[in-house]
Amino acid sequence: MKQKRFFLQEKELPTQWYNIQADMVNKPMPLLNPATREPLKAEDLYPIFAEELCRQELDQTHSYIDIPEPVQEMYRYYRSTPLVRAYGLEKALDTPAHIYFKNESVSPVGSHKLNSAIAQAYYCKQEGVTNVTTETGAGQWGTALSYAAKVFGLEAAVYQVKISYEQKPYRRSMMQVFGAQVTPSPSMSTRAGKDILTANPNYQGSLGTAISEAVELARMTPGCKYTLGSVMSHVSLHQTVIGLEAEKQMEMAGEYPDVVIACFGGGSNFGGIAFPFMKHKMLEGKKTRFIAAEPASCPKLTKGKFEYDFGDETGYTPLLPMFTLGHKFSPANIHAGGLRYHGAGVIVSQLLKDGYMEAVDIEQLDSFRAGCLFARSEGIVPAPESCHAIAATIDEALKCKESGESKVLLFNLSGHGLMDMSAYDQYLAGNLSNYTYNG
Ligand SMILES: *Cc1c(COP(=O)(O)O)cnc(C)c1O
Repeated sequence: MKQKRFFLQEKELPTQWYNIQADMVNKPMPLLNPATREPLKAEDLYPIFAEELCRQELDQTHSYIDIPEPVQEMYRYYRSTPLVRAYGLEKALDTPAHIYFKNESVSPVGSHKLNSAIAQAYYCKQEGVTNVTTETGAGQWGTALSYAAKVFGLEAAVYQVKISYEQKPYRRSMMQVFGAQVTPSPSMSTRAGKDILTANPNYQGSLGTAISEAVELARMTPGCKYTLGSVMSHVSLHQTVIGLEAEKQMEMAGEYPDVVIACFGGGSNFGGIAFPFMKHKMLEGKKTRFIAAEPASCPKLTKGKFEYDFGDETGYTPLLPMFTLGHKFSPANIHAGGLRYHGAGVIVSQLLKDGYMEAVDIEQLDSFRAGCLFARSEGIVPAPESCHAIAATIDEALKCKESGESKVLLFNLSGHGLMDMSAYDQYLAGNLSNYTYNG
């Protein structure tokens, strides 16, 4: 009997997150205060984020950071997530490659986002915060935060990009079921929103604008903190539970990955699965390859510039040293809403610059073709974001077929697509198109 799924026992679950910054030879460059251009200190971020998260953000010394017991307790509701050998997909591709995926879609909210939402809500509660706010595009982060806030007794206010608010009503319903207040962005409730709406009344919104609104609300409201579901280093830190579990599960499978692959929005699920394995490349010279799969319509890693840029549209955030398409970049309306962000996290940006990882860009139609093949061979409908990782994995598996090599491929299934069936409908009806990025 071939074993298909690998789980850890509760006592084997990670009790610490892995902080790759501590092991990097070239540390990420500092975040800058946009007014003074001075490197930012943790205290400078305290008005926006929970203090412990600010310290984690800038921590370049501790390789491992304890996961608080109440956070571990919440993780035990759905972790470990299964590591699955994708025999069905291997057969469909007729490849000698061994394909594994880590299935983060089994979290209660359907994606990896909950791993960081739980941690962020916990630290806010610890520090006496009463309200949290955030932005959401497709709605996965907003959903995760809404649930985590409820668990720790916080009120959540979510700014949802207007086009998703209108096109993805079920995500909004989910957030409301968890008790959050959801506002379409841009809204008239903030200066940032008002400015954009008065200049352009029909603006359909973007993540950058929604971030500006949420940051403004947090700054103006006592007892309210902002939270972010991607891009920031503390978010990738929390997501390393994925890779730390996967390391042990791959060991149970008796294999070690030659290639680790994840889709890329701001970098948190990529960092989550990749960093624990990348540690061995950095410190022990292991030859593992790491591939970030981004949409061809929003290609900050393959076509962006490495420079200091804002994380939001208005320019409220610190300046971040990152690969970026520019904070005014407005991505095409692809269905992988979680990948429509102009920049990349500062850790991943440095790692790409230093050659520890690679990036590929995937066209929208190729991503859905890959997602359908995966659904038909493994029985799981993947999130449109995750389809990008699957497409990149299929490319690698087909290269193995050509060369006859049986490489071990591991990808992260960041979420399921059960709330995105209208996107699949449009794909199957032939109504989707590719969007080329042209500078
Ligand atoms: C948000 C999201 C992503 C992209 O975010 P990263 O921080 O790049 O991981 C990918 N997949 C799913 C399912 C998401 O919800």
